[in-house]
This record gives sequence, C-alpha cells and structure tokens, in this order.
Amino acid sequence: MDFSVSEEMEALLATIRRFIANELKPLEQEVEDSGELAPDKASEIFKKSQALGLYAMNVPEKFGGAGLNAVETMLVEEQFGHTTDILVRRAFGNVYEALFAANELQQERWLRPCVRGERTCSIAITEPDAGSDAAKIKTTALRDGNSWILNGNKHFISDGLFSDFFIISAVTNPSAGSKGISLFLVDKSLDGLSVGKDQKMMGLRGTSHVELFFDNVVLGSEAMLGDEGTGFTQILNTLGRVRLAQVGARAVGKASHVLDLVLDYAKDRKQFGQSLGEFQMVQQMIADSVIDVNAARTLLLRAAWEIDQGRDARDWIAMVKVHAAEAVGRVVDRAVQIFGGMGYCKELSIERYYRDARVSRIYDGASEIHRIVIARDALRSKGALFDSLATGGWR
Ligand SMILES: Cc1cc2nc3c(=O)[nH]c(=O)nc-3n(C[C@H](O)[C@H](O)[C@H](O)COP(=O)(O)OP(=O)(O)OC[C@H]3O[C@@H](n4cnc5c(N)ncnc54)[C@H](O)[C@@H]3O)c2cc1C
Repeated sequence: MDFSVSEEMEALLATIRRFIANELKPLEQEVEDSGELAPDKASEIFKKSQALGLYAMNVPEKFGGAGLNAVETMLVEEQFGHTTDILVRRAFGNVYEALFAANELQQERWLRPCVRGERTCSIAITEPDAGSDAAKIKTTALRDGNSWILNGNKHFISDGLFSDFFIISAVTNPSAGSKGISLFLVDKSLDGLSVGKDQKMMGLRGTSHVELFFDNVVLGSEAMLGDEGTGFTQILNTLGRVRLAQVGARAVGKASHVLDLVLDYAKDRKQFGQSLGEFQMVQQMIADSVIDVNAARTLLLRAAWEIDQGRDARDWIAMVKVHAAEAVGRVVDRAVQIFGGMGYCKELSIERYYRDARVSRIYDGASEIHRIVIARDALRSKGALFDSLATGGWR
C-alpha cells in the first residue's frame, strides 16, 4: 500500500489549505453569530474557488470535475474538515455521487449544472418514521401513465432551503420491500412540493435542515434516476462514499485541526508556573488524541485505497464511519478539557467544534448500524478481518 501523492496533489492541497485559511476562516464566526452565510459572501467564495478549479473536485473528469481518485479525494476532504459545513458546501460544492448514474438528458438538466455551480442538490431519504431503517419509507411514487405521482414527506434534509432540486427515495412498488424503492430527481419548483420548517440543530450553524412535503407532485418519466427498484441499492452505494468522504475524512480533518490548536495552547498557557503541556495528565490527553487522529487517518486511507483497487470496501467504510466519528468526539472533548473555561466559552471556536462533531456518530448511519454491518460480515465470512493482503500475514 502506498499513500504517497504526486507533486500536483501536494500543490492542490496547499492551495486548498490557503483558500480555507484566507477566504473561509474569516467568515466562520460571522456565520456562527448570525446563523447564516450572507448570499453575497456565498457567491464571492464560490466564484473565487471556481476560478482556482476547487469547485466540485469529487466529480469525474468526464462530467467536468477534477477526476481525483479515492485516496486523493479523502486528502482533499480532510482539509474540508478544518472549516464548517456551510462554507464547504458553498465554496467547494456538494455534488452527490448518486447523480453520476444520470442518463444523458439528466446529466444536462441536473448533473452538469451542479458541477458548474449553477444548481444545488440535496438528498432526501429520511422520514420521521424511517431513519436508520431507511427501507421503511412511506413516501410513494405511483405510476400514472408516463408519469409518477409523488406523495409523502421527508425531514432533516441538509441544505434544503438553498437547494433547487432533490434526490428523493420513494416506494414505487409497495409489495417489493427494499426492492420496491426508486430514486427521483425532483425540482423544488414543482407544484405540490413544499418546504416545511428549518429544523434547528445543536451545531452546523448556517446549514438548513428542512422538512419536505409532497402532495400529488407529478414527475415525468425522465425524473427516475437509475432503474426502477434500484433506489435502495443506489442509496447504500452512494452513501458509502458520502460516509467516507463527508463524515470520515472530515472527522479526521476536524480532529487534527483541533489537536493542532490544543498543542499550541498547551505550550502557551501556564498554570502553577509551568505550561499545561508539562503536566503528565495533559500529556496523556494529548497522546491519546494523537493516536486517535492517526489511527482514524490510517483507516480512512486504507478504505480509500480499497476503493481505488476496485474492491468491495463496504466493511472498511463502516469501520471508518464508526472509528473516525468517535475519534473526533474524543479529541474535541479532550480539547474542551485542556482549554478549560476558554474551551467552553464562545469566545473561542473549541465549543463549536465540540457541537459540530457530535452529529458524526448519528447521521449517514448511526455507529450502532455500522457496527451491525461489520459484525454481520465478520460472522458470515470474517469480512475484512482476513482480506487478501493479510493472507499469510495475520492468519
Ligand atoms: C444534522 C443532520 C443532517 C441530516 N441530513 C440528512 C440529509 O441530508 N438527508 C437525509 O435523508 N437524512 C439526513 N439526516 C438524517 C440522518 O441520516 C438520520 O438522523 C440517521 O439516519 C438516524 O435516523 P434517526 O434520526 O431517525 O434515528 P433512529 O433511526 O430513530 O435511531 C435512533 C438511535 O437508535 C439506535 N438504533 C437504531 N436502530 C438500531 C439498531 N438496529 N441497532 C441498534 N441501535 C439502533 C441508534 O443509536 C440511533 O442513533 C440528517 C440528520 C441530521 C441530524
């Protein structure tokens, strides 16, 4: 396994780091205080990022993106973890990989405008009665001639206020269980679609999370993404990559960024005539955080490497989702402790990282769900425990 990167990639990462430091960091507190990113600021960071070729980097070259491989994508996403969700969405885009299944007509109408930053998409799967059990959705899209009639509702849809279309899961065949679920591309402007309240969250200030209601929304046949009945599989596949990049890699990035702040503080802050970093109990917290960051990063890169080899990375992704989400939680918790009162105080960003990190263990599959996947695969076939690389090594 080789995680070394090209000189071009090093240069790209340096550009992203500079962009975040110079363009995004100065906006963080303003968004935190006001609860929103002003439209003119959003437009400014989008234009600057696009001019540098930093927008929609996760998209394959054939669709107009940067065409990064999985390891490179994770290194980029790790940098994104240094700043906030809303600033990443506006500056670097959020093109869901589910859209790569678009046919030519759909590419022109939905995917390519997203890559150019002219349109924005949210993914709408969760319903009030179907969260972890995403196959139990009640939203239906029933055939009516050449059309589909959409009825039901969703909630917690990230960026739903801003997005102008949605990837929506709906039951097209009520008697087929998870094989009766299909995905649709649904424009927000359609008659019968309404956006409910913005559901305020513990963290992630500036990003909206909304309810959606569908009342006899008429969808043309061109709205179905992929084949009928493949929606659930598509969700599992596309969310796998979302988990790895947007949860796993960003958790690693956030943890390493917060640890960086901790190290500076532990050296500068003095109590009892010595710096905090000289106290062994503080050193233990620092050592545990260094281990957490590096273990999570190593697991992340291994999972990405598996994807780049074209291998089934499901177990690896689940391991990253659990481990990175829990590691960042431990790191930000120790950070609050080491910063003391200033860690709890809104004058510094530590308490924000603490709040923002918490959701990583919940969304895109709670830790418990991923542990089920890992354990089931291990019990059935020993899963990723004895993979081909380890043969002759671990056995
Ligand atoms: C900030 C935020 C943004 C989100 N963005 C989106 C979005 O853009 N699009 C979208 O579709 N959804 C989104 N979601 C929804 C998110 O994916 C769900 O919250 C998540 O899947 C968990 O579902 P739930 O909240 O209904 O919890 P539930 O399914 O009710 O589970 C609650 C808890 O019960 C436990 N649990 C559940 N099932 C099991 C089990 N089988 N074994 C053991 N324990 C179990 C777990 O601890 C779990 O955390 C978002 C949520 C949040 C908080």
